[in-house]
Amino acid sequence: MNTVVHSTAHPTRSHASARDDFAVVGGGLCGRLVAWLLAGAGHRVALYDRGDAAGTQSAAWVAAAMLAPLAEAASAELLITELGAASLERWPGLIAELPEPVFFQRNGTLVVWHAGDRAEAPLFERRLRANAPSALFQSGFVKLSGAQVAAAEPSLGTRFPQGWLLPNEGQLDNRQVLTALAAGLVERNVDIHWNTIIDTPPDAHFVIDCRGLGGKPAWPALRGIRGEVARVHAPGIGLTRPVRLLHPRYPLYIAPKQDDLYVIGATEVEGEDMSPMTVRSALELLSAAFAVHPGFGEARILELNSQCRPTLPDHRPAIVWDGARTLRVNGLYRHGYMIAPEVADSARALAEALLGGAITDSDSFDDWRRQARWSALLRCEHAAPVL
Ligand SMILES: Cc1cc2nc3c(=O)[nH]c(=O)nc-3n(C[C@H](O)[C@H](O)[C@H](O)COP(=O)(O)OP(=O)(O)OC[C@H]3O[C@@H](n4cnc5c(N)ncnc54)[C@H](O)[C@@H]3O)c2cc1C
Repeated sequence: MNTVVHSTAHPTRSHASARDDFAVVGGGLCGRLVAWLLAGAGHRVALYDRGDAAGTQSAAWVAAAMLAPLAEAASAELLITELGAASLERWPGLIAELPEPVFFQRNGTLVVWHAGDRAEAPLFERRLRANAPSALFQSGFVKLSGAQVAAAEPSLGTRFPQGWLLPNEGQLDNRQVLTALAAGLVERNVDIHWNTIIDTPPDAHFVIDCRGLGGKPAWPALRGIRGEVARVHAPGIGLTRPVRLLHPRYPLYIAPKQDDLYVIGATEVEGEDMSPMTVRSALELLSAAFAVHPGFGEARILELNSQCRPTLPDHRPAIVWDGARTLRVNGLYRHGYMIAPEVADSARALAEALLGGAITDSDSFDDWRRQARWSALLRCEHAAPVL
């Protein structure tokens, strides 16, 4: 059933009676970006999301939005770190085209550990060496003494005996990206339907399903991995870049945003539990942050949030054509912001090839796929349409 709760079509849209080229279903991070890119390429695009323009129903709303392909290599494979490195180069250009400002920083990641947890450090380093492109590792991994840690982040003082600076990494403000993209969609004349739940295909030449975990009915292999984060206001601490704490049980990051706002995260729990954060997780995250800097004891808790990361069995994103008129873009897992520019642009390119007739069947899809930069993301799977 197609349950339309509320619809707000863009009032200035011209030739509203013609069929849309693309209907993008799900306007979290990925859907907003795909719709915005397609509209920027001159196509007629409609976007539908069950939530609001702020994006509060999405995983993207809760995320810390660190752009850390090297640090993520501790748990991600080469494909993901390459996607992340390429996407990091693209974010400044994308942000420059958006009609509203977005906090974006490329000041690196600092990795630290308490003396008792020093056994974690060589393991982490080995994983980075194994999973990151070697150029990224060679140019982006600087060992620091305790004094150098203190020089890099004076507010940490000499609390940590050693650390690593990954100087090329970045971060941005997730909520500003969502808001700026919403404004960008209006500017590009996208037909926007917030507060609209979609479970049958809207009328359009092609439908692009970007529903994140909401796409599970069409993609049963999707699963959620719960993540919890705290947002705190902590004036006077003055961290200048995301700090990651290596710890055997409570690995944690502290991402400083503008105006003394810090995002502290994140748990990783198998399951699609969207209930509020547990006391255990709150204690663990906040205690670990307090151990990094006691000034967090005086921070004010603004939010304790939880959401689920949309995840496929191989922990890779995928762009799947059903052989007819649906594309599915999903599985961005814990790397959505880090890889979205490249994933969304690959989806844009495939969508344009379908609309333009360059792809008509699985043979032409295979030919097209072979020349695509991120061919490992692309699949053609004839499945019974659920959306
Ligand atoms: C705690 C946490 C921390 C994270 N930290 C980071 C980080 O530091 N760096 C990073 O790169 N990534 C991070 N991520 C991951 C990132 O948030 C996700 O990968 C990304 O949001 C996935 O984008 P998406 O558009 O596929 O899904 P979402 O952002 O979840 O968007 C899906 C959208 O679909 C809509 N929808 C669902 N069903 C329907 C329906 N039936 N009809 C209409 N609309 C529907 C939803 O309302 C939602 O807006 C984090 C995630 C979490 C949970």
